Amino acid sequence: MVVLILLLLGLCFGSFVNALVWRLKKKRDFVRERSECTHCHHVLAWYDLVPVVSWALLKGRCRYCHKKIDDSPLTELAVAAVFAVSYLFWPLGFTAVGWVLFGLWLVALVLLAALFLYDLKWSLLPNVLMFPLIGIGVVWVVLYYSFLAPVAPLVVVTNILLGLASVAGLYGLLYAVSKGEWVGFGDVKLGIFMGLVLGWQHGLLAVMLANVIAFLIIIPGLMTGKMTKKTRIPFGPFLILATVLALLFGEQIVAAYVSVVFGPIV
Ligand SMILES: [Zn+2]
Repeated sequence: MVVLILLLLGLCFGSFVNALVWRLKKKRDFVRERSECTHCHHVLAWYDLVPVVSWALLKGRCRYCHKKIDDSPLTELAVAAVFAVSYLFWPLGFTAVGWVLFGLWLVALVLLAALFLYDLKWSLLPNVLMFPLIGIGVVWVVLYYSFLAPVAPLVVVTNILLGLASVAGLYGLLYAVSKGEWVGFGDVKLGIFMGLVLGWQHGLLAVMLANVIAFLIIIPGLMTGKMTKKTRIPFGPFLILATVLALLFGEQIVAAYVSVVFGPIV
């Protein structure tokens, strides 16, 4: 039942993400204005906006100008899937605080999905999305250490600093050394959220995962000639995928890694 609700919520929020990204690009007020076709600017009716269903009925084309709809139903399906998977594999339990963190995570996922799409389309991680995300990270850390992992204040501070150093520090260093050539400052800010929410162990895991995912996507791209060495690939989407994986499956990934690498010895 919860999974079903989350799937439906995810579809709606996925749809919202599609609209949000376009309106941010065009610097519009994304709360008041009605959705419109990106080609002919015809205002869309509610029946054009039903997640996935409208897209399928219209065969991916605008009802009015018949050009291809830019917004992919993949966003809606992906957000719905990640919502459901997050519930099924939620690592922090469903105590009262667990639920609050889960709620925060869903909001974070919506922001992350929007950042993913924006970075993919225009190679930029906008601050309007990034700052609320970092805000969630701060609230998250406070709740986490107050209720789920009550340790000495000094340990908390050390953990938070290590978490920030593990991703944001690393990327900040790369940013400084390469003068913004290798990584963008958006990646550094994303690293702040990652460090806060993941902690340093899973933060480092996420950095590693992001590189593995990037490698798996870029190598075939280079081999088939779809990319060249000069293709600029935004790194944000890889970091975002890795963050989701590290939060939900961090323990399992580390355990699997240890058993593969150290299996013969242990
Ligand atoms: Zn149109």
